[in-house]
Amino acid sequence: MNIVVLVKQVPNTTDVKIDPKTGNLIREGVASIINPEDRHGLEAGLQIREKLGGTVTVISMGPPQAMETVCECLAMGADRGILLSDRAFAGADTWATSTALGMAVRKLGEFDLILAGRQAIDGDTAQIGPQVAEFLRIAQLTYVRRLDAQEGKVIAERALEDGCEHIEAPTPVLVTVLGALNKPRHPTVEGILAATSERSPVEVWNAADIGVKVQDVGLAGSLTHVVRTFTPKGARDTRRLEGSATVIAAELLEALRQKEIRLGE
Ligand SMILES: Cc1cc2nc3c(=O)[nH]c(=O)nc-3n(C[C@H](O)[C@H](O)[C@H](O)COP(=O)(O)OP(=O)(O)OC[C@H]3O[C@@H](n4cnc5c(N)ncnc54)[C@H](O)[C@@H]3O)c2cc1C
Repeated sequence: MNIVVLVKQVPNTTDVKIDPKTGNLIREGVASIINPEDRHGLEAGLQIREKLGGTVTVISMGPPQAMETVCECLAMGADRGILLSDRAFAGADTWATSTALGMAVRKLGEFDLILAGRQAIDGDTAQIGPQVAEFLRIAQLTYVRRLDAQEGKVIAERALEDGCEHIEAPTPVLVTVLGALNKPRHPTVEGILAATSERSPVEVWNAADIGVKVQDVGLAGSLTHVVRTFTPKGARDTRRLEGSATVIAAELLEALRQKEIRLGE
């Protein structure tokens, strides 16, 4: 099975701070890691390759420092690593990111399975997996917490809010995974040496390499723009209502009316 794993480099914190003046993420002093769910996606890909044969190719879009992430994936056992890096990709929203990733997958040629994390811990949109599937016009299974594969199909368990769903899907298919899926292996010393040696199999592709117009990626190709980012104030305006249930209900209704909240009249 030819497997592609989408991997994002993210800051090693869920407590991302925002510069109040520029509205940008403060990345200085924050170490970078592989987005946690992507390690589970890679582990799933490696296990399927061990069972059925084939290849595991990792693709990451990011600045040159995201090379570390691709190398770490190779050290865990991926066969091939591709870093999409070009100034033209900078400032991409999820749409432009998905366009670049989708074009890179197309350039790879035939594939059976694409694995992605459900969500990145910095951007948090959970849009990239579904958008890449749409871009490539293939089926998608999201929120997957168990996964098996046979030639020509995958068998998945999807986590729903109030239960789970068992699904079989023919390949090619894109699967977004949850952390409950497996326990990712550690990189090996041999793997680290091979991934970082002069003969490292990491390739760096730019916009021209994936055949995309610069106006379709990065800031230029983005359909959305972040106008302002801010940390919401924690303090809430609270008021305690006291008295009998009838009195409290009447006061609550009046308070809602004053805020012009209509209650299905
Ligand atoms: C300088 C800059 C400017 C930005 N400007 C905007 C903007 O104007 N508007 C806006 O909406 N967003 C903007 N972003 C955020 C950017 O669009 C998102 O970080 C990116 O699209 C991924 O979305 P996400 O983090 O929500 O990923 P999710 O959709 O939550 O990620 C799900 C999964 O998709 C895969 N994935 C996600 N990103 C990548 C990647 N880069 N490479 C490989 N796999 C990946 C991973 O498997 C990941 O687990 C900007 C980011 C930067 C750095």
